[in-house]
Amino acid sequence: MSTLEIKGLWASVGEKEILKGIDLTVRSGEVHAVMGPNGAGKSTLSGVVMGMPGYDVTAGSVTLDGEDMLSMPTWQRAVAGLHLIMQYPTEVPGVMLDDVLVEALKSRERSSDGLEQLLRDEADRIGFDNQLLQRPLNVDLSGGEKKRNETLQLAVLAPKIAILDELDSGLDIDALRACARRVEAMSNESVGDSEPLGVLAITHYSRLLHELKPDFVHILAQGHIVKSGGPELAVQLETDGYATFAGTAEASAESSSALDDLFSI
Ligand code: ADP
Ligand code: MG
Repeated sequence: MSTLEIKGLWASVGEKEILKGIDLTVRSGEVHAVMGPNGAGKSTLSGVVMGMPGYDVTAGSVTLDGEDMLSMPTWQRAVAGLHLIMQYPTEVPGVMLDDVLVEALKSRERSSDGLEQLLRDEADRIGFDNQLLQRPLNVDLSGGEKKRNETLQLAVLAPKIAILDELDSGLDIDALRACARRVEAMSNESVGDSEPLGVLAITHYSRLLHELKPDFVHILAQGHIVKSGGPELAVQLETDGYATFAGTAEASAESSSALDDLFSI
């Protein structure tokens, strides 16, 4: 059983505090949805946990199975078992997808025997055009193809915990269903002797969660988690929007101005 534990996490960009005390624990096989309006700090949370440059952690801790992640460079966090699918996947000209995966497997002391077949199987499973396997990483792919490509890498690398930053953005309905189902399956199945995937799925629409079924839903607003609950919270959000959580936001946020800002987004 693996555990990602985020405790009392504060982070800023320059002078601006963005995360103001986040507590979240994600275990193998659990799907946690973090939902929130634009500008709430969702991408910041994913970036800070994975070690993207530009953020200053001012308090708190992030550990994976008790190991401090914040002191490691991003690649070591990845080797330790964290994986991020970014909201806007990066194009890497000149670097081929299979080369990336061979190197990634090597750094995890795993064999890449059978990788070609595995890639084809995984591509078929999520409807990713096999011809696109021969491209440099994400180069000239559409938004939806990039997210499929990223989902494919996630499936091949089988990390302990995946953070998905708006996997649904840029995806059409079919691609969304295929990618979400693939991640849902990973959260239910162990591969070899590994545990099922733990998932932190960041989104502001509940449509992703129709296929990727959350065990827990957290609402992030103004750098705080203002409410946590079960899947019913996502259903409630879908019908009522973020405004329904006015009372809880007011009670949990540091000041009522956080709530005013929530409405203004
Ligand atoms: P979300 O993903 O929830 O839409 P973000 O984490 O991207 O939100 O951003 C949260 C807030 O932090 C926003 O107000 C955004 O403008 C600000 N922010 C994020 N990154 C930077 C940055 N590099 N420089 C300045 N402000 C930033
Ligand atoms: Mg974002």
